[in-house]
Amino acid sequence: MEDCTVPLETMTYSESLRLSEERKKMVAEQIVSRGVKDPLVLAAMRIVPRHEFVPAEVKESAYRDAPLPIGREQTISQPYIVALMTEALKLEGGEKVLEIGTGSGYQAAVLGEIAGSVHTVEFSEEIARDAAERLARLGYHDVVVHCGNGFEGWPAEAPYDAIVVTAAPESVPTALLNQLAPGGRLVIPVGKRSQMLQQWVREGERGFESRNLIPVQFVPMIGGPPKSTPQPAA
Ligand code: SAH
Repeated sequence: MEDCTVPLETMTYSESLRLSEERKKMVAEQIVSRGVKDPLVLAAMRIVPRHEFVPAEVKESAYRDAPLPIGREQTISQPYIVALMTEALKLEGGEKVLEIGTGSGYQAAVLGEIAGSVHTVEFSEEIARDAAERLARLGYHDVVVHCGNGFEGWPAEAPYDAIVVTAAPESVPTALLNQLAPGGRLVIPVGKRSQMLQQWVREGERGFESRNLIPVQFVPMIGGPPKSTPQPAA
């Protein structure tokens, strides 16, 4: 008997068009409207298929103006926060970037659209494996997922032009500051109950400039700093 179902590709194409329209709307209504201007960031946010990074049961909400649960008590950040943090990294294309807290891999994919190479460190082995599989399936071959404790950064690939942290430590881990290249930027939520998104810039060998961006709410960074690394005073 003839198979009379609609060809899969036709359905997939119209569905992907619909989702691409949703992304354009997300960028206009949630991100540009709140003041994010960097064209590289806006382009990346229009391209990365956010619906591929959330569990099936929340797929229909993938482009909503909200963080979403991604399982194992973790969340994928609100699109605006991802855009704001990426803009604060001041990327121009081609940089080496480190992310701490891979989660779904969404922020890493956004970075992958802009930077030359991305290393992302995830504490949980299971989460790291899932994210690595997802990023490879979606073609993000310049994003490398590592399993480790982000309090230590990822020294093997240092220095980095930019570092973004997507779980909140109580104070800025020294290792991350040390792994910034001169002129490099670190964007990080800091605090326990009330957290502040901070941007740190390495001015030279030793000097750092820091400023507060906005209050945020991230899951806490777990695992704690390595015993041998002294923490800076708050
Ligand atoms: N950037 C992610 C969301 C991060 S959720 C995304 O785009 O989906 C925070 C993640 O940080 C969780 O996956 C959690 O397991 C991880 N995490 C918490 N403490 C960590 C640590 N010390 N080192 C590395 N990852 C950590």
